[in-house]
Order: sequence, then structure tokens, then C-alpha cells
Amino acid sequence: MAAKALRLPPMPSIRDIIKLYKLRALKQLSQNFLFEPRLTDKIVRNAGTITGNEVCEVGPGPGSITRSILNRRPARLVLIEKDPRFTPCLDMLAQASPCPVHFHLGDVMSFTMQNMFSEDRRRDWSEGLPGIRIIGNLPFNVSTPLIIKWIQAISENLLFPKHKRQLVVSLLERACVKPILRPYQLSVQEFGQICLAYRDMCEEMPGLYEYTLEDTPGDIEPEAVLFSWVDTAVFRYRQKQVYKPASLLFPKRKRQLVVSLLERACVKPVLRPYQLSVQEFGQICLAYRDMCEEMPGLYEYTLEDTPGDIEPEAVAEQEGEGDEIDFNK
Ligand code: SAM
Repeated sequence: MAAKALRLPPMPSIRDIIKLYKLRALKQLSQNFLFEPRLTDKIVRNAGTITGNEVCEVGPGPGSITRSILNRRPARLVLIEKDPRFTPCLDMLAQASPCPVHFHLGDVMSFTMQNMFSEDRRRDWSEGLPGIRIIGNLPFNVSTPLIIKWIQAISENLLFPKHKRQLVVSLLERACVKPILRPYQLSVQEFGQICLAYRDMCEEMPGLYEYTLEDTPGDIEPEAVLFSWVDTAVFRYRQKQVYKPASLLFPKRKRQLVVSLLERACVKPVLRPYQLSVQEFGQICLAYRDMCEEMPGLYEYTLEDTPGDIEPEAVAEQEGEGDEIDFNK
């Protein structure tokens, strides 16, 4: 069949759909909709080969990027959306689609990866990139944990049982135009050391990133802790001295370990996360990994295991200081 014949039939515009279904963007889900087909076409064009590949779109919302994906004729499209208000418009798109569309309503973080892509997409690592793509315009607080989850799934052979996979993820992250978030984005590449290649997709499209897993990931647990730590340091503690987020990596009252970490990393404890270079974040992460190897059990103190345990206030109390710690004393 000619390529043109496979395009989506004419449909109401995304603006009309939003009006029709009264789909106000919800702040709590960091929703922000794209309306301009020329823009979404450009995003999808820059997200690599779609035609004939299996594609997963995370957070399709009212479906603007989805339309551009479908117009490029993927072999199959998997949609994962948390907000049930989008079900009618995504169902409508699925019905109009020339290719099979599988819509999953729910949080991508609890989505089961197995069977997401067809068995015939399975390749040996050495065979190069498989014909699968993952695309999303996601809030930044979702995208990093999501990348970790996917790498973990690959590392544990969950994506395709018995096969580790290469993976290309294209994420549009508006938030990273803010300079403070830039090191954080870069951190995914720098700290992971799990062969995640990261690149700005396109000069014209700031905020579109591609993450390619280039080699078989091994055990990535320490990296997972570090990813969330960087997240915490940059977002929750960015105005605090780096000593405070660093304390989260250790059991309570182990001030010496925090000092040792920052000394090993050659990072001044009084710096604030936003003042750290990507290299300095990387040094902290490498130093932490070394300490985990030297001290079996240290890694068990994950950020999640110690909620409230080492809150900044607790650290301050513990140190008998106010909010700031004077390391020059
Ligand atoms: N793709 C649409 C666009 O570009 O116009 C919507 C983008 S909006 C920034 C992000 C979308 O991701 C929203 O539809 C939101 O409901 C969805 N979302 C946010 N967190 C999610 C999660 N954990 N699982 C699945 N979808 C999520």
C-alpha cells in the first residue's frame, strides 16, 4: 500500500479535543500539552526511525505526539498514560490508526515490561539496535526514575526474558532548558557508567534527548541509588550545602563517612548542589561506589530505607549547628 494511504484520517485538532473533553492540564501531573503538529512532527522525526518499528509512547496525554508517530507508520504502538481523562481521545486515535495500538491506563512506573514489545523484536546484543523506540514528553521527575527502571529491566532480563537489550529512549524534557537542570540531565550519562550514551537530539529542538544503552548493563543497584541521590540533591536540596544531601547516603550519625565521601571526591562540603560541576557529581558517585565496595552493608542504607532519618534538620541537630555547617571551624 502507498505510504500516503496509511496516514490518519482527518480529525478534530488537539485544541478542539481538549475543549470537547474539558481536559484542563493538571499541575500535579506536570501536564503541559503540545498543540502544533509541525512541532510534534519535528520531535518524532528527530526521535529516529519509526516506520516499521515498535514504539512505546509514555504519557501521550491528548495525543499530539501520538498522531505524529502514527503518521510515520510504526509496526505497533504501545501507549502508557496515567490520567484516565485521556482514555476517550486515545481510544479514538487507536480506532483511526492504521497500525495496532495498545493502550494501557496506569502509572508507567508500575507497568510490567514483559511483553511490551513483540517476541520477534528480540535480538542478541551483538546484532545492533532492535526495532523498538521509546518516546515521551514527560515531567523530569518521572523520566529519570523511568530510565533507571528500564535499565534495571534490561539488566534483569525482564524486557525480553533471557536477553539483554539495547534501548533507545527519546525524551522531551522542557524543564531542562533551565540551566540548573542541565547538570542533572547530563548526570544520567556521567554517573551511570552503565554505558548510557546521551545526546542532544537536535540543535533546533532544545530539550529533546536520546539515551542509548550501548552495552550490556551489569548489576546497576549502586547506580540506581545514585540516580535518585542526584535527583534529591539537585531538586530537593539544591540550595543546601552538599554535605546535607550527601548525608542521605549514610546511616544516621555517621558524619565521618560523609566527610570521607566528600574528601575522596575532592568536593568542598560547603558548595551547593547547583554549584557543582557534572564532574564533581561524578566524583561523588564514584567515591560512594568505592565506599560501598569497602564497606559491605553500606549500600543497604538507600534513600528509601531511611525516610526522615537524615532530614536536613536532623543533620543540623546532630551536628549541633544551625542550618549551615561551617567546615572552616
Ligand atoms: N504527550 C503530551 C504532549 O506532549 O502534549 C502530554 C505531555 S504532558 C507533559 C505529560 C503526560 O505524561 C501527561 O499526559 C501525564 O498525564 C503523563 N504522565 C505523567 N506521569 C506519568 C506516569 N507516571 N505514567 C504515565 N503517564 C504519566
